[in-house]
Parts: sequence; structure tokens; C-alpha cells
Amino acid sequence: RFSTAAVVEEPIVPPVQIAYTQHLINGQFVDAASGKTFPTYDPRTGEVIAYVAEGDAEDINRAVAAARKAFDEGPWPKMTPYERSLILFRFADLVEKHSDELAALETWDNGKPFEQASKSELPMLARLFRYYAGWADKIHGLTVPADSSHHVQILHEPIGVAGQIIPWNFPLIMFAWKVGPALACGNTIVLKTAEQTPLTALYAAKLFHEAGLPPGVLNIVSGYGPTAGAALASHMDVDKIAFTGSTDTGKIVLELAAKSNLKPVTLELGGKSPFIVCEDADIDQAVELAHFALFFNQGQCCCAGSRTYVHERVYDEFIEKAKARAMRRVVGDPFKNGVEQGPQIDSEQFEKVLRYIRSGIESKATLECGGERLGSKGYFIQPTVFSNVHDDMLIAKDEIFGPVQSILMFKDLNEVIRRANATRYGLAAGVFTRNMDTANTLTRALRAGTVWVNCFDVFDAAIPFGGYKMSGIGREKSIYSLNNYLQVKAVVTPLKNPAW
Ligand code: NAD
Repeated sequence: RFSTAAVVEEPIVPPVQIAYTQHLINGQFVDAASGKTFPTYDPRTGEVIAYVAEGDAEDINRAVAAARKAFDEGPWPKMTPYERSLILFRFADLVEKHSDELAALETWDNGKPFEQASKSELPMLARLFRYYAGWADKIHGLTVPADSSHHVQILHEPIGVAGQIIPWNFPLIMFAWKVGPALACGNTIVLKTAEQTPLTALYAAKLFHEAGLPPGVLNIVSGYGPTAGAALASHMDVDKIAFTGSTDTGKIVLELAAKSNLKPVTLELGGKSPFIVCEDADIDQAVELAHFALFFNQGQCCCAGSRTYVHERVYDEFIEKAKARAMRRVVGDPFKNGVEQGPQIDSEQFEKVLRYIRSGIESKATLECGGERLGSKGYFIQPTVFSNVHDDMLIAKDEIFGPVQSILMFKDLNEVIRRANATRYGLAAGVFTRNMDTANTLTRALRAGTVWVNCFDVFDAAIPFGGYKMSGIGREKSIYSLNNYLQVKAVVTPLKNPAW
């Protein structure tokens, strides 16, 4: 029997009002140019929470014009870096002050546990902005010695108007990964939120204006991908585009950027990350972290450890324990204390995950537990564990983006390295072993942007994140993220008196 906590029949009333549903352009909340709106839903029930301004190309034009003006005429890029840094620090303070409202809105719109949003993601949001506030006045160029008699300066300048497109799985954290470095470097922004989760970025952007951000620096447009998103990616006056979402959409964004003005593109895309449990691992710890690596955020993580490779000698023990842990997972109304798993984001993802579960059963993987929806309302799915999974099964190849753990058996290191790397993705990997040589071999052999050893999902602001192969281009967070938002200018002047 599963642990459930009063799933959905009487959903808890969220302790927050919805204050902002219009676009935020040039510091003002405004309706869509077309006057259209679209619904955003409560994933606990499938009921409409609010109607939000529906952006299209005209709204993107207006937002880009505001961002362009704010960049070209200032004051933002012309403020001292210290003044910009103070605004980022003040925003982080306001995030802490309004943390409960932001967390409640995030849970309401997304379905993630309120405890996760309030205790982990909101503190991380403030931390990320303080990290970037710290960078704002430490971004500087170089002087380099030239062979000729010239004085050579390398200036690091903001790139201009940044277009940013984010997904629904971590709306506020994705907002921070995009907005933080862009602002720290002195850029202006048009950000398009995911249509499933438009609410928290509007609230956060309002707080940014309270913190002293000048109008036009951060513009938020809500709307769908093929309309508002595509208009942003192909806009001739946008100087850079940063995108997080699926690999298929990432390809479209790259193509739109190339076909318009060749704006540089950074992409954070999908994954099918291996989680490798060696025979000498601490099995209880590995079971718990493999569970966390997959089921965290309803399984809706780009870096989810979604291929759990377990050494044959510990395989049976691992499966018994992984199954028991999944069956103890507390699923229910995400506003309820102690709930570990809420609903999937929407009916489309819910149906997709159930289709993958059926495909796992049809391809003769062993269904250890779960496999069905939970309750009769909303988008809840039982924590599901498959064993006897083989590399050629769809559940081992595709990104499921749901609470479905696939456990595969391996016999030796070379074999597991080859199989772990045999994917079009390369976002992350987990390695569980007590042997340093095994850890060193695996960390170097795995083709992934992050390898966690005896841990998983550690996300400091200073640690870069991004993918090899079709998991993306570029890195977010950390010092590496700044390069995404800077132009490099070489300034060369003759030296009148080279001897000096
Ligand atoms: P998605 O690609 O459909 O949507 C992501 C964003 O792109 C949304 O804002 C959407 O409106 C927009 N979009 C859709 N079509 C577009 C188009 N033609 N032009 C421009 N923009 C468009 O992805 P999703 O289903 O919303 O999100 C889940 C996916 O995102 C998963 O595959 C997951 O792995 C990936 N993801 C990756 C990371 C990462 O850091 N690598 C983080 C979160 C999610």
C-alpha cells in the first residue's frame, strides 16, 4: 500500500492571493496587445487558477522596444556596478520578506510540495541573487602584452537585450539562473515564462522594481511557445537568447536565432542521467539518493537520475529496498506538511507519463510497484519502480519526466561506462562507490556536465550546470554563466613611447 496524504478531494486553500496576471513591460503591468488571456491551472484539481495576459509577437515587440531603450539610453548599463549590485542585494532581501507568498504561488501553479518550495527553493532564490550581486562589481577585463608597440585592453561589456525562455518545472529557480547573470553583467531582459506557470515570475519582477530596478530593464511576457517564444527567439533586436526546455524545442530556438540575426544561444535541455551503484556502495544511502534523484519534484527534473544501473551482486537487495522506499513516499496535496510528492504539472505530462508506464509493462520490464494514477482528481501518479529494464526499452531511452524509476543491472565497470554513455544526452550522472579509483575512473569516463559522487542534485550557485551532447550548449550558474551575457571588446592604441 502506498503512503498517501489525503490526496485531493478537499484541496487546501492556498494562503496567497493572485495579484499579477498582466505582462510587465517597461515597469508597468499591461494587458496583451490583442486583449487575449489564457488559463493557468491548479494541477491538484485541473481547475483554472487565473487567466493571464496571452502574449504574441506584438507584445514581444513592445517588450523588446522597452528593453532596447533601457539598454541604449540607460540608466541601467550606465549605473556603476556597485549600484547594480545593491539592487540585486535588495531584491534578495525582498525575496526573503515575501518568501511565503512566493512559495505558495509556486506550489499552487506548479504542484510542487510547499515545504520544498519554501524551505529549499526560496532560500536558494535569494542565495542565487546574492551570488550574482557579488559578481556585479567584479566583472572586469584584462590588459594584455602585445608583440607590437600597442596598448591592448580587453573590455567585457554587456551583450545588450537578452531574450530568455524558461520551463515550468522550477519557475523561480529558472528565473534566477537566467535573470541573475544577465543583470549582474548590465544587460536588459525580455523573459517569457512557461505557459503552465506564469505567476511567480510576475510577482518576483514586481519585487525587483520595488528594489529599485529601472523600468524596461526586466520585462516579463506570458504566453505560448510557438507564438510569444518564437517571436522572441527570432527578434532582430534581441542580442542573445537563453533557453531552458526540451531538446526538440531547443533545436527550434537555435534555428530561429540563426535564421534571424545570428544571436548567440545558450541551451539547457533534456537528460537521461545514469545513476551508477557499484557493488561496494553504501546500499542504504544509494537507495535513498537514487530515490531522491528520480522522484524529486515529481520526477520533473532535467537531470533526474532516470537510469539506475545497479551492480549484479547488490541488485536484488537494491530492488527490494528501492521498492519499499517508493511505497513509503508520501503523495498528496502539496500544501500539506509531510507530503513529498504532489501532482504532475498538467494533463499532457500526466498522460505522457502514464503512456511510458504502459510501454514499460508492454516491453516486459518488471513493475515492482505503482503504475497507476492516484485518486480521481488532478494529476497524481503513484511512485513507480521498474526492474529488469534493458537499454533498448523506451523507458530507458526517453526522458519520461515523471515518477518512474527504471532499474538496470550491470556486471563490470567498462560495460556500465559504455552503456551509461550510449545516449544522446549528457546532462548529469551519479556514482555510488567507496573506492576512490572506481570513482575517479567513472567521473572521468562519463560524458556529462555534472557528475555527483555519493550525492545527487547538489546545486550551489557557484557550481556550473549544463550539458554535453544534446543536453545543451553553455553553462549556467557559476563564473561560467557570466560569459553568456558579455561581449569581449579588444581596444588597441599605439604607444607613443614604447620604452615606457
Ligand atoms: P518545452 O521545450 O516545450 O518548453 C520550454 C519553454 O519553451 C516554454 O516556455 C515554452 O513555452 C517554450 N517554447 C515552446 N515551443 C517554443 C517555440 N517553438 N519557440 C520558442 N519557445 C518555445 O519544454 P517543457 O515541456 O515545458 O519542459 C520540460 C523539458 O525541459 C524537459 O525536456 C526537461 O528536460 C527540460 N528542462 C531542462 C532543464 C535544464 O536545465 N537542462 C531544466 C528544466 C527543464
